[in-house]
Amino acid sequence: MVAVAVYPVRWGGEDMRFEVTQVLDAIERHLTTEAALAQAVVDLGQIAWYGALDGGRPVSLLRVGLLVDALSRHLGQDALMLYTVAGRDLLTDADLTPKERMVLGRWAGDGMIEVVPVVADRVPEVADITGLPVVTVDGFPGLERRYPWLRGMPERVLQLVPGEGGARIIGGQPTPGGAEARGASLLSRVWRCSRRDCPIFGDMRAGSPAVPRMKAGVPVCPRHDEPLQNAGPRPPSVTFVLIVDGSVRERFVVRAGRPVVVGRSPDEPTGLVIGGHLEGTAAQMISRNHARLELREDGLFVVDLSTNGTVVRKGGGPYGGGEQVQLSGGTAYPLEPNDTVELHSGVVLARADRLPATSQGHRASIMDDAPTMTMRPQL
Ligand SMILES: [Zn+2]
Repeated sequence: MVAVAVYPVRWGGEDMRFEVTQVLDAIERHLTTEAALAQAVVDLGQIAWYGALDGGRPVSLLRVGLLVDALSRHLGQDALMLYTVAGRDLLTDADLTPKERMVLGRWAGDGMIEVVPVVADRVPEVADITGLPVVTVDGFPGLERRYPWLRGMPERVLQLVPGEGGARIIGGQPTPGGAEARGASLLSRVWRCSRRDCPIFGDMRAGSPAVPRMKAGVPVCPRHDEPLQNAGPRPPSVTFVLIVDGSVRERFVVRAGRPVVVGRSPDEPTGLVIGGHLEGTAAQMISRNHARLELREDGLFVVDLSTNGTVVRKGGGPYGGGEQVQLSGGTAYPLEPNDTVELHSGVVLARADRLPATSQGHRASIMDDAPTMTMRPQL
């Protein structure tokens, strides 16, 4: 028997609104328009309109929560990030709740989702340029000639279907770090939209690696459909993960010239706050500003800033092993690709492209934030 989630139970109730807000906040943490952070590309509308997933309302953003859960289980990862595209028709759908419409507007305005006039082939295009897999409901029929990998590459085409716990993914295990990025040269430049307030290629996103749309061989802004200006080479970057007790909890990017301090509660606003993921002795032993990752011209370095020290494991990979090097007192230490940084036992920083295809363990469901959901057998 397959159980499907049905909601809302009490859509108009105050309690429900509060819980829906929590789920939407939880979903928001998995949305990005940064190619370097994303693990898959998705059309938000395709998922929100997928009524057969749960037999519920014609449109529901909560279905994105079912997708996040299903893909997290499929990949064995918690800190899943989705490069998210949405057509204008989704943002104006009359069946959205006022809350959903407001949240979508905020996601669009803050550049967490890429709003396009018409979605068309945008999802496979982003995947083609970046090498990322796609998440799909229908497999993009009619686009296989332009994107031959849509056919016969289950590791790049992840299909969302109804299943145990709300939804599941049919497909292979994507290659860590993605397939060959056909648009690597495109992604090696900084692009700017002529509209300075553009949420994905404007001033506030200087240097952020969103993905241009190609139109007759010219990079254009996917939102404004105007040619983008080439603003020079993009600084190199390395994507990291935070692993706590074997489970990936965060993904973050370290860019050349922009060091990232990791700790319980770093002073710098650009730091990675990990206090919320820590319990017991880890929470006591890890410093507020624990370690700094720096991408310099001469390589990648970790600098210990902590009270109790930082350990580098040489070549051990993300799940332990390797010779230990103890760092302390502001030491800068060069990191090789397979080295990991241990802030405390079980709390590890590793390069995202060195993760095994399927990692260990995953966290509780994002939909736990919506306890008023009911389950019923599928007819
Ligand atoms: Zn623009």
